[in-house]
Amino acid sequence: MEASEILKQFNDIWQLRHEYAKDWKQKNGGKVVGCMCTYYPEEVMYAAGMLPVRILGGHEATSQAAPHMFDMWCPFSRDCLNQALKGKYDYLDGVMEVNTCLHMRVAYGAWTANVPTPWSYYFVMPNAVRSPHAKTFLRGELVEFKKALEEWTGKTISEEDLDRGIDIVDTNRRLMKQVYEFRKEDNPPITGTEAMTIVWASQLMDKREQNEMLKQLLETLPERKLDRETGVRLMIVGSEDDDREFLNMVETELGATFVIEDHCTGTRYFWDEITPQKDRLQAIADRYCDRTPCPSKDWGMEDGSRVRFDKILEFAKEYRVQGAILTQQKFCDPHELDIPSLRRVLENNGIPCYFLEFEVTVPLGPFKIRVEAFIEQLLAEELFA
Ligand code: SF4
Repeated sequence: MEASEILKQFNDIWQLRHEYAKDWKQKNGGKVVGCMCTYYPEEVMYAAGMLPVRILGGHEATSQAAPHMFDMWCPFSRDCLNQALKGKYDYLDGVMEVNTCLHMRVAYGAWTANVPTPWSYYFVMPNAVRSPHAKTFLRGELVEFKKALEEWTGKTISEEDLDRGIDIVDTNRRLMKQVYEFRKEDNPPITGTEAMTIVWASQLMDKREQNEMLKQLLETLPERKLDRETGVRLMIVGSEDDDREFLNMVETELGATFVIEDHCTGTRYFWDEITPQKDRLQAIADRYCDRTPCPSKDWGMEDGSRVRFDKILEFAKEYRVQGAILTQQKFCDPHELDIPSLRRVLENNGIPCYFLEFEVTVPLGPFKIRVEAFIEQLLAEELFA
């Protein structure tokens, strides 16, 4: 199959995510669990024969969520709840929230109170992931989580099951990283929109199926030539971002390419693999504490230092980024608090930044003008450097 055809299939799965999950359930007979945030331990869920799917918004008006969440909660969390209240997730066997920001916790509370879902679980993930106690604490939470899944399904999760779960998820991470290598090229054979769509699909589809498709994609990508100029190499940073129309607009209309990103619907979700250990649950706990953190988790060092900024800067250098678009879902406190420091780190390293605030739907016209002006500024600065 051609690369474009495989990439189109990933886009179809992202768009038709509910149909995909219902179909999966019918074919496999397993449970489908909706997961909020990216700290859900998928390895244990795959070990239990389940399909974890990320809860995403619908980019539609959120009027049904209004009686449950004030408008000053982030649009993404309101949008997720709104989709559930509309019945879009009525096929789910369970829903789980990972201790994340307050906004998502409110969405989860309103979901479990108002949307009938057979099973729900609140997974306690430490916020101070660099505290000396975090990994031991998280291992304890994983023991409880595994027990809860065993009670729910009536099946014991063996060490072989955990090995299988780890292998499925880690293979997926490895293959996606190989795809991302192509984005370093002068003329990447894959756009940023396409690459991020792969990540969205990986949060929604059976990773075993995606792994086979990614292997095929990796065989065909070296031959793929895109009928477009790469233009300005941009990075995009923020929380959740599956705003395909915005990404596509920048890449098709403004002469730029997103060559790398730091999103929980992008690299932050899959970049880090598990280091094998005899104690499988400890290995999983270590991975989730050591992974590139979300700003709501990048805490716990006595000297107050952060690791997130180093990773973003490393990406910017490796992918030869010329400018960065820093996005924030309106009212998202964790990301908003980080933006001044992140901007300083990037600009001190010669990477100009531009800030955009996202809502449930993005005003494409005004955003186009603003990003176009930023790109012109980058080009002008390079011309006179
Ligand atoms: S966008 Fe920000 S406030 Fe909203 S769910 Fe994500 S981290 Fe929380």
